[in-house]
Formats: sequence, C-alpha cells, structure tokens
Amino acid sequence: MEENKQIFRCDGHAHIGTEKERQVRREQNIMTMYCGGNPAEWEELYKLESQDSSLIAAYGLHPWHSARCSVEEMEPWLKRAKIIGEIGMDSVWCQVPLNVQEKAFCAQLELAAKWKKPVVLHTKGQEEKISRLIAKYPNKYLVHWYSSLDYLEKYLDLDCYFTVGPDLEQNEAVQQVVSMAPANRLITETDGWSAVCWALGERPVEEMGELLDFVCGLTARMKGISQEEMSMLMPENMKRFMAGK
Ligand SMILES: [Zn+2]
Repeated sequence: MEENKQIFRCDGHAHIGTEKERQVRREQNIMTMYCGGNPAEWEELYKLESQDSSLIAAYGLHPWHSARCSVEEMEPWLKRAKIIGEIGMDSVWCQVPLNVQEKAFCAQLELAAKWKKPVVLHTKGQEEKISRLIAKYPNKYLVHWYSSLDYLEKYLDLDCYFTVGPDLEQNEAVQQVVSMAPANRLITETDGWSAVCWALGERPVEEMGELLDFVCGLTARMKGISQEEMSMLMPENMKRFMAGK
C-alpha cells in the first residue's frame, strides 16, 4: 500500500547484465525493465523472474538474433510474457537480411496485438519502415533510444512511449524526442550499463542512479517542470505502458 508513495528511478530499457549491475539496481531503487532477446536470455530471465516477482521482464526475439529462431519456438515465450520486446529491425548494426528480420518482427507484432501485450521497439536505421509496419498492428508501443532526426512525428501520431537515451546531453536526436513527446510518454533508460559505457565512456556501475537522476533532471528542464514532478511521472508512465491497452 505504501509502495505508491515511494519514488523510484526508472530504467525503461535494460538487459540482464551482471549480478553486480542487478544488485546496484536493487540498492538504488531503480525500477528496471529487462529485455531478453534470444532463447538463452529468455531462459535466464525466466529464472531471475521466478526468484524475484517484482522483476519486470520483457521477452522478444531481438532483430540481431532473428535468423536463429522460428515463430513456433518463440510463441510459448511470447504467450507467457507480459511485455514483448525488444523487437524490431536494424540495418546499421546487424547483418541479418532485412526480409528475415521483417518476417520475425511482423510475426511478433501480430501476436502482441492479438494478445494485447505492450511492445518495446528497436528501430535502428529502419525508422520509416517500422513506423509503417506498426501502424498495421494497433497496440501500445515503447520506442527505445530513438536516435534518428527523421520520422519521429509518425511515432508521435501513433501515441508511442519513448525511452530517453542516456546520452540526452550530447545527442540531438534524443533531445528532439524529449522536446516533441509529451511528458507523460517519457521514461529514462540505460540500455544496460555496457551501453552507457559505450555511449559515454567507461564509468563505475555505482553511478547508475546518479546518471538516471541527471537525465531525468535534464528532461524535466526541457519539459518545463520540476525534477521532482518528472521523477514521479516516469514510474507512472512506465506502469501505464506496462498495463497495455
Ligand atoms: Zn537494448
């Protein structure tokens, strides 16, 4: 009952990471959505979830792994999942042919829409294509670390949620997301601590809470509200997204 009053930091998009990383998340009150992206990660995430019922888990076949798994193999995992993701397409960091990626992506979009489960999207280099594909499957979508200066309006038209990349201070595309999207659609993210170190340089994992507070504060300033208000709004945004339609 008291839980509603507690302010959480939000990490709207992360990966399983190390035990140390998960420990920091627990100690620093970071409400984290973990995404499992392939069969081995699904098994691992499922094990973690059964040990800790408060853990937020999303299951989906990540575009990088989309050649490795059939729809039949995925289906029981997606059926069990409360959230589907991260799924999508990627023509920048991925060698899997786009038609293979699209097939796996659309199969998952279809099941998610049928079962009314919210979806986390990976859109790298395929922003325009994905905006057209998801328009065919009305659902609740969370676009993770949107990094393109183009096509953002298509996602705004579909009332998407957005995670705010940890490089908000440096990345013009992330800044555009924050300025254009309504405050009740924004959630901070790390994409896992290794992604933070990749984007911002090596730093100790203990700085996670501090970084999320910093990005939350910057988001608040850009939206013209106080950091306290923003830090209360983000967990609400995350819960509203997770609740689906
Ligand atoms: Zn990710």
